[in-house]
Amino acid sequence: MLLQGKIAIVTGASRGIGKSIARTFIEQGATVAFTYRSSEEQALALEKELTANNGTAKGFKSDASKYTDAENLVKEVLEAFGTVDIVVNNAGITDDTLLMRMSEEQWDRVVDVNMKSCFNLTKAVLRTMLKARSGSIINISSVVGVQGNVGQANYSASKAGILGFTKSVALELGSRNIRCNAIAPGFIETEMTEKLDAEVVQGWRDTIPLKRGGSPEDVANTCVFLASDMSSYVTGQTINVCGGMITAS
Ligand code: NAP
Repeated sequence: MLLQGKIAIVTGASRGIGKSIARTFIEQGATVAFTYRSSEEQALALEKELTANNGTAKGFKSDASKYTDAENLVKEVLEAFGTVDIVVNNAGITDDTLLMRMSEEQWDRVVDVNMKSCFNLTKAVLRTMLKARSGSIINISSVVGVQGNVGQANYSASKAGILGFTKSVALELGSRNIRCNAIAPGFIETEMTEKLDAEVVQGWRDTIPLKRGGSPEDVANTCVFLASDMSSYVTGQTINVCGGMITAS
């Protein structure tokens, strides 16, 4: 129960990594406000699941790329739960293509959903965390933000931008006991990767030092560490949750 009594916002939790973070936070005693953009049915099902065993959770439809949505979200969460101790900026999309073919719209959308979203929500919770003189903000980046990747100029730029943002927030707000860290997941196996060609996926696993893809729980457990008082002296850092992938390249 590392998060007992803490109130968390997790963005983009209707499936994948965000869903696992929401589940793990509930197991650790947190109250969870989670968001989604369009997957209403999955969000309702998750809310039902999270509250089934006396957990406290609520899903909010909120577009992470929109500044006013973030402001409204925090207002609603404060009305529902009173404060916000933890923010996980997890919502993210890809729209891959070579730079030669990438449209302005493809660039803007990916940068807005992945990177501007971190600004939007961090800005919106700031006053609450400053008043409390405590808070943990966790931004989900990617190894692609650390290393770059062919066909992902928009995605890697957005994820690298998150790393700079994380360090600046840590430097600005450390004196107020507000911590900000990033997680850079490697290849994480989700519902989405189940649909990919099995041989291709095995090929990816083989290149990873730990010889497996990561699970959403691997990322969620790292979030628990960064959200909890276990990491009270850790800020401005990026933890690569990648099975050694980055070390190997
Ligand atoms: P996913 O399965 O595609 O789930 C994305 C989640 O984000 C969904 O719940 C989606 O909800 C939500 N979302 C998308 N756009 C949104 C918006 N504008 N506003 C609010 N919510 C929005 O993705 P994932 O694989 O779990 O990835 C989660 C995060 O980890 C992302 O930031 C991703 O870049 C990062 N990451 C993933 C991997 C990996 O291997 N999976 C590796 C490195 C980093 P709706 O369906 O309702 O839109």
